[in-house]
Amino acid sequence: MKLILLGAPGAGKGTQATAMAEKFNLCHISTGALLREEIKAETELGKIAAGLIKEGKLVPNELVVSMMASHFEKVKGVDGFLLDGFPRTVEQAISLDNLLAERGEAVCNVLSIMIPDEMIVERIQGRAAVEGRADDADISIIRQRIATYHSQTEPLIEYYQEKGLYKEVDGTGSIEQVREAIFAIL
Ligand code: AMP
Repeated sequence: MKLILLGAPGAGKGTQATAMAEKFNLCHISTGALLREEIKAETELGKIAAGLIKEGKLVPNELVVSMMASHFEKVKGVDGFLLDGFPRTVEQAISLDNLLAERGEAVCNVLSIMIPDEMIVERIQGRAAVEGRADDADISIIRQRIATYHSQTEPLIEYYQEKGLYKEVDGTGSIEQVREAIFAIL
């Protein structure tokens, strides 16, 4: 199983990905979490990512793609993977397709968790206190991330619709309701 979970920041991708990975024995790969590890380890990539994440902007495609390529090599002993936060641009999606094709693999399902922009702001502000992420604590960064999502990530909907892989779930319900909707599709 090669799954992609799409959705705006705060849509609940991380929470749902954890449940999905457990149920279907998948490796949950979150680019945001991997980038935060790079920042913590003060690597070259981490130094570049830190400034961009702080501004609510995307890390350059080639850096994220090569980080993912080396991460795929480490995925073993599972029935597939679940990508959370990647791809975030059409260019990344094309790179992912090429990367998988080299391994004789392909994306099999793309699920998008849909929530309105105002709910995004509420949810992110709510989790800021719990997770302590600096990019969650500032309203102007949240607005920038929403704008980045609409301009750069939303075009992926059409990209995956054309491939017949795309499905949507309503993300406005409780964690359990959204989880059941996702499981029903899968
Ligand atoms: P997330 O934890 O998914 O909300 O990601 C936090 C931040 O990491 C984003 O706002 C981006 O700055 C960066 N990031 C995460 N995934 C990607 C990606 N696929 N491409 C570029 N930047 C990313």
